[in-house]
Amino acid sequence: CGIIARIGHGDATETLLSGLENLEYRGYDSAGIAVQNGSGVKVRKCSGEVDELKSSLEQSLHGNMGIGHTRWSTHGPPTDENAHPHTDTAGDVAVVHNGVIDNYDELRADLQARGHEFDSDTDTEVIPHLIDDYREQFGDTERAVREAVETLEGSYAIAAIVDGEERVYAAREGSPLVLGLDDEEWYLASDVPAFLEHTDEVIYLEDGDLVVLEPDDYRITDVAGSPIERSVDTVDWDP
Ligand code: GLU
Repeated sequence: CGIIARIGHGDATETLLSGLENLEYRGYDSAGIAVQNGSGVKVRKCSGEVDELKSSLEQSLHGNMGIGHTRWSTHGPPTDENAHPHTDTAGDVAVVHNGVIDNYDELRADLQARGHEFDSDTDTEVIPHLIDDYREQFGDTERAVREAVETLEGSYAIAAIVDGEERVYAAREGSPLVLGLDDEEWYLASDVPAFLEHTDEVIYLEDGDLVVLEPDDYRITDVAGSPIERSVDTVDWDP
């Protein structure tokens, strides 16, 4: 239902949590975040309110980049396991997703047959496993995300982080995703209010766009990897 991602210098956790609170108006049944720091990708998620997520976070969950999600269940009940972010078997790739993956059933069976272990009932969980699978195959995460996106059928806005990489990967098809540009940090969200308290400079992404955010750079490409130029807009409404 709602996505927020942030990368930059300094800590991401507060921004992710306030971003999720700013998206609460959309309605949701679960919430979660994943952050990346020196000791890998850390996920915290639960069914219920963002407040419950906050109270379950230990002090130590810090990182300069991360992704967050408020879930409105379509596949699988609102349980802690079904809350996003979802990860691959080893927990190296974490993904948040809005929308519905139509071909998740066959993808899941195929991935399970090749040794991937699933923890949830969601359609979403095939995405981190697919990215992981293509990473193994191609040794390049950006390519793996493109291959995964080409394999998925349905509607999605996706944001992903990967252990050991200072990057947020994102893609959209049929679900909104907007990039927010601040002086020293980048945001991604399903809707502008998620980060409007930080910046009003935005790029509205279009279907088929893929994005790679790094602390000092961002780039938008099509699914073949060719660069795409999108104009920067200034949002003229107040938070
Ligand atoms: N289909 C996904 C799920 O049920 C995503 C739902 C959403 O957009 O929040 O977990």
